[in-house]
Amino acid sequence: MKRKYDSIVVGSGFAGAVVARELAERKDEQVLVLEKRGHVAGNCYDVRDKHGVLIHQYGPHIFHTNMKRVYEYLSRFTEWYDYSHEVVANVNGQMIPVPFNLNTLSMVYDKEMAQSLEKKLVETFGEGSRVPILKLMEQEDEDLKAVAEYVYEHIFLRYTMKQWGQKPEEISPEVTGRVPVLLSRDNRYFQDAYQGMPLHGYTPLVEEMLSHPGIELSLNTDAKDVVKLENGVIYVEGEPFDGKVIYTGPLDEFFDCCYGRLPYRSLQFVFEHLEMDSYQEKAVVNYTVSEDYTRITEFKKLTGQEVPGETTIMKEYPIPYTDSETEIPYYAIINDENRRLYHRYLDLVKEYPGFYLVGRLAEYKYYNIDAIVERALSLADQLISGK
Ligand code: FAD
Ligand code: UDP
Repeated sequence: MKRKYDSIVVGSGFAGAVVARELAERKDEQVLVLEKRGHVAGNCYDVRDKHGVLIHQYGPHIFHTNMKRVYEYLSRFTEWYDYSHEVVANVNGQMIPVPFNLNTLSMVYDKEMAQSLEKKLVETFGEGSRVPILKLMEQEDEDLKAVAEYVYEHIFLRYTMKQWGQKPEEISPEVTGRVPVLLSRDNRYFQDAYQGMPLHGYTPLVEEMLSHPGIELSLNTDAKDVVKLENGVIYVEGEPFDGKVIYTGPLDEFFDCCYGRLPYRSLQFVFEHLEMDSYQEKAVVNYTVSEDYTRITEFKKLTGQEVPGETTIMKEYPIPYTDSETEIPYYAIINDENRRLYHRYLDLVKEYPGFYLVGRLAEYKYYNIDAIVERALSLADQLISGK
């Protein structure tokens, strides 16, 4: 009997959608996409709430990249709303730009002090530099130490404790390094060459990507009920399958967490609809010294949607990830021990050459959208060229 599908893609987030599209379009494959949820776009899913406001169900997502290939690729499936993301931190009621930059410096120190600190910072690191907080804290100079301490105490300590349950120096340095001290007056959260929001949202973008005659989508389908790995053979619905399986879900879950659960942080999102034009000055306000939530997002300021007299906001409460039935694994907790555990799971797939892993969950990495799209395009290139 002829095989019905050439490839099976598990997950319809950016990782799955890009690979499915590429295999269908460039390799003329028949691709089946299995998606556990009732919708596509993974954690980038957006939808109108009952008041008509476009919200991001799984946390605020802003697209940004320096990779021209990624930007141009996504631009095939969407137009863009030209948006540059700016964030402020609410520090005891004062709203200060984050990442901490030279504008922030002049808001928290008096004029003379700010000028002298600016001079020293620029002399030490160079104008325009991006200095990770943990690096700034290593400085011997008393003035630089004082700035480092201010930033650590007022921007990083409490936010990181809430987000990770650990202090900044206890987590992987790349994480706090994502939000460096910026020696410029650029208030944007990201300095990437391309940034913006998909004009009609992420869900229509991904729907467009999956809209191809070679792609069949099965929503509400857990791959674990369809795909099994046994004695070096991939089975699909009980039959040996000699096509490819591209898996973008959590690796431990696929093996019933047989070595124990891979650690993640999860989030609880609390949405509120308010009858007012504007709730806060920027789309995202971080609460870096108070509150139990980390940040508040006001969606219409992200998307540019016009909704007079009404707005929807969302608070993010970080929680431990303990149960895959009721919680979602959002952030891999990357450290040596957890990477070792991940590698034990990786060993389990080694005897299945037709089983490929790509995505933030499957690779247990802290990837932004652009990095995932790039990874997925590279995997597709490899599968298409057969190398
Ligand atoms: P996902 O989007 O998680 O997709 C995986 C899909 O696989 C899901 O739909 C899931 O349901 C499905 N799946 C899992 N297991 C199975 C199974 N057994 N069977 C069938 N389907 C399965 N990146 C940015 O660039 N900018 C941002 O502003 C940004 N903000 C973020 C905010 C938050 C709160 C979080 C958590 C992440 C943020 N990211 C951001 C990162 C971004 O969400 C990811 O890079 C991107 O969603 C990864 O896509 P993915 O396809 O790898 O994973
Ligand atoms: N962070 C912080 N205070 C802030 C912003 C970020 O302490 O105001 C730290 C925190 O540890 C966070 C990390 O920097 O997890 C990365 O922040 P980013 O905004 O990139 O996180 P994401 O948007 O991916 O949740």
